[in-house]
Amino acid sequence: MRRNNHQSPSWKHSDRVWVIIVARISTEKQDERSLDDQIAYCRKRLEELTDRPVKIHVIKSQDSGEYLDRVELRQLEDLIESGDWDFVITEDLGRICRRSHALTICEMCEDAETRLIAINDHIDMAEEGWRLCSYFAAFRHEQYNRDTALRIQRSQKNRFLNGGALPRPFWGYLGWDKAKTDSELRKDPEAEELIRETFRRLDDGASFAEIADWFNDLGIPTGPSCRRKKWTTMSIQRLVRNPILKGIRIRNRLVSKRINKTGRRRAELAPQDEWLVREVPHLAYFESAYYDHVIHVVSERNKNIGRPANRDRLSRLGVPRKRTTWPLQHARCGICGHTIWKAGTHGERLACCSGALQYRCWNGMMIQVDNTQKWILGAVLDRIRQCTDFAKVVRERIEQARKENDLSEQRRLYERQITRHQNEVTNLTDAIVVGGDIPELVRQLQKARSALNEATYQLDRIKSQEREAPRALPDAECLYQLVEETMRLVVNEDDQASRLLCRILPRMTLYPVILCDGRAVEVQAEVEFDLSAAASALVGMSVDMPSEVVTVDLFDRPPYVEHAERLGTVEQRGETVVATAKALGMSLTMAAWARRLYRRMQELGIQEPYMRVDMPPARGWRCRRHKHPRYHFEPQKNDVPPEAA
Ligand SMILES: [Zn+2]
Repeated sequence: MRRNNHQSPSWKHSDRVWVIIVARISTEKQDERSLDDQIAYCRKRLEELTDRPVKIHVIKSQDSGEYLDRVELRQLEDLIESGDWDFVITEDLGRICRRSHALTICEMCEDAETRLIAINDHIDMAEEGWRLCSYFAAFRHEQYNRDTALRIQRSQKNRFLNGGALPRPFWGYLGWDKAKTDSELRKDPEAEELIRETFRRLDDGASFAEIADWFNDLGIPTGPSCRRKKWTTMSIQRLVRNPILKGIRIRNRLVSKRINKTGRRRAELAPQDEWLVREVPHLAYFESAYYDHVIHVVSERNKNIGRPANRDRLSRLGVPRKRTTWPLQHARCGICGHTIWKAGTHGERLACCSGALQYRCWNGMMIQVDNTQKWILGAVLDRIRQCTDFAKVVRERIEQARKENDLSEQRRLYERQITRHQNEVTNLTDAIVVGGDIPELVRQLQKARSALNEATYQLDRIKSQEREAPRALPDAECLYQLVEETMRLVVNEDDQASRLLCRILPRMTLYPVILCDGRAVEVQAEVEFDLSAAASALVGMSVDMPSEVVTVDLFDRPPYVEHAERLGTVEQRGETVVATAKALGMSLTMAAWARRLYRRMQELGIQEPYMRVDMPPARGWRCRRHKHPRYHFEPQKNDVPPEAA
């Protein structure tokens, strides 16, 4: 400490008195005195203390006095510890900080021989008894804060129970500007249909991101108090998970807890019996059971982040993990079993085996996404059209499904489940009364309750199905139209259609094929189509339809391959090669190729000129993936590759 003993013992500097003034407000509305008022007040007191020239350092801050990690507080401590200052003046101790740390500051001042004055708390270190005063002041400020918090909580609680304490305005409801209580709010008729469709889509497997994009495409505004002008996954989630949609307002779901070290607060989930619940049936968009069911479905789906692990081997079935163009991430490589990924540089719509992209598969054939969609969808539709007895099969299957679709079996299943879950709930409630690991028991109880709600919902659904009159039988034409429409939408990147199409075409495998004369390697797709999903969507109950497999060329066959059989068999039909070639618009060279190809097919005894390759072919093959030093063949594990299984 640099104290000049030959000077007046009370001043640290010969020319001026060094003074720190501390002023703080929490928010402008909350404090009666502004920062400037506080500073003026302290200056006035300073004038009473000394008439010497002064050097004033002002520390102003705007934050809670409970926070101990404020920059201004650090700054003040550093200044005090430097020992250069004669005074620290503040309106009251709480302006510096709260709780026992205020006492620490006082003691730091004592060590540094700096005189601390907190005017309203009657603390002046030059006077006796300042220590006691500072204890009382710290205690009083803490108690005052606590009392104020409790008072605010009480009045808010009271207001809430009488329908007030409204949240900030959000989308889906009207009347926010004038409403004092929730009885003055009303549902937005324009939002009603959208909210219903949102829940239907979520139940069908849509993600929040998908709903957000759909809302943005429709140009739905985000709501009066949203800063963002676009819907996001989070904002959709907040909307969907708000229980007001089933006519319930909840308050006190979270409590704030002080972290004593920093004085900051953290929100924690309050015990359920402390929640305040208010029923607002006029604001409900859904029945409670249906709402709980959809929330249950969504929570189950998102339980393990992304897709459930054990859903199905065909992991893209139903739920897209993220937004991809069909059939990316759905189709698989016939060689290694890995899924097909987007490949190529930005802007190119190409796809390739993901195994090959990672040097784990030699099938590096690229396919064009747009053409692939066109070819596969065209081939499947043709196949449905060609089936002459298709209409009959559809009719038979639907009749059969209707007979088999005896709901009594399912009803008994859910009734058994309900009894079991009810017992669980009773037992767990008893266990909680007895004591033990309460948080764990409460967690289990919540789980059991949720399962009970879901089973009850399913049982109600079955009961209403039993009451319903059967829908009219669709004919094959309806089915064809549905599939065609779905496919058209998929090409336009519609997520819902994409999900339905993944169910209609559950398995799609891409193989490299080589022409039997060894000229070119191309890609063929083997597509399994299963019309159960489409038929079920039409009939409104689960119908089991026959599934079929079609092979689709993902390339255009050259004319000589196309007409190989016709040109190879001209003699048998008494025609000439020249005339036939001319009629087909082919050159003589091409006709010769065609005839050679046909002979080759005869030698090999095959009907189909393209053959599957199970090894990287030597000719007609540009891919050299397997020559790369990093290459190591590794088929898809834990997931039986189609066919290779
Ligand atoms: Zn592969």
